[in-house]
Amino acid sequence: SKVLVSGANGYLAMWTVRILLERGYNVRGTVRDEGKTQFVREYFAKRGFGNDRLELVSVPDIVKEGAFDEFVKDVEGILHTASPFHSNVKEPEGKLISLRKLIDQDSDIFPRRILPSSRPGNGPNVKRIVVTSSTAAVMEPPTQPTQFSELNWNESAPKEVEEKGSNAAPMTIYRASKALAEKSAWKFVEEHKSEVKWDLSVINPPFIFGPPIHDIKSASALNTSLKLWYDTLTGEPAKTRDQLKASFTWVDVRDTALAHILALEKAEAGGERIITAAGPCLWQEWLEAANSLPQSQRPANLPVGYPDILEGERTYLANWDLSKEARILGIKFHSKAETTKDTIENFKERGW
Ligand code: NDP
Repeated sequence: SKVLVSGANGYLAMWTVRILLERGYNVRGTVRDEGKTQFVREYFAKRGFGNDRLELVSVPDIVKEGAFDEFVKDVEGILHTASPFHSNVKEPEGKLISLRKLIDQDSDIFPRRILPSSRPGNGPNVKRIVVTSSTAAVMEPPTQPTQFSELNWNESAPKEVEEKGSNAAPMTIYRASKALAEKSAWKFVEEHKSEVKWDLSVINPPFIFGPPIHDIKSASALNTSLKLWYDTLTGEPAKTRDQLKASFTWVDVRDTALAHILALEKAEAGGERIITAAGPCLWQEWLEAANSLPQSQRPANLPVGYPDILEGERTYLANWDLSKEARILGIKFHSKAETTKDTIENFKERGW
């Protein structure tokens, strides 16, 4: 069967397309810039997936009404991963985008555009739509150890952006955009459930790490999450003790891609938002994982950091109740050691 993947050239989406193809699906990938199709086409052609299995189309403006209409007519599933993830969300004029603009454009890319496209008549065969949300839509990073589940919503980021407008911190704007986008997707489904033949499933990943297979011109052009990881492992700029002690949660990019596909396949995933995380971590633990590799497999200037951080009890602030993931998807998540080894190997192949 055929599946549409939006933003097919992205970090997460490239793995999603790859696993789909390997599992026998035909894929239609959308990119916003025609010039970005070449790398994707060549990457998969080299792996034996030609035009008969992978079609790439450009949707230059994904906020335009009906932008996806002609591309969803013959697909059975839609994986919507496209969304900006930048810590420096800027308008061309250099101004931070306002909440209003986020609602009108970025955060509503999915609900107002892809969903209507999939109404009967537009996408008569679509059975399931899977949207990439984020744990950013579930919570604001806590200051005390807290456990969260799919029942939690990040209410404070949208509120803060509402109050401060473009003066809100860029990451708060990002988290607000993810929370609002996911909310309006569920709202759309609620309002149109009698008309549509498909159901919605949402994946909420935390920070995504792991080997990139998308087109990256240089280490400085890495996507936001991987750039943070790279900077930490190269010690550029050097991290303070407090920074290396900071806790957050993570997941491997390959597991996140698989989660989207399992959410497409498993009947029980319909109508569910699912947190897909490997677990909590401290930045120092990533340095420890890298320093535990044989010398030849380590990055050249790998810092030691502050190993004493890992002595005694560790405090993880955000913790997830992952029982829904285990029950519905049951992914065997990559460990820090595996992700670290594979990612460094990938970087070394690029000469970094
Ligand atoms: P990438 O930046 O690698 O990929 C994002 C994709 O979305 C690219 O194809 C990009 O196109 C496209 N895109 C971005 N903005 C727009 C826009 N305004 N209109 C059309 N297309 C757009 O990021 P990731 O792979 O990391 O992110 C994929 C998804 O995962 C996003 O929804 C993100 O919010 C979510 N996510 C990511 C996490 C992470 O740690 N990386 C954590 C949790 C969620 P182009 O190449 O042309 O810019």
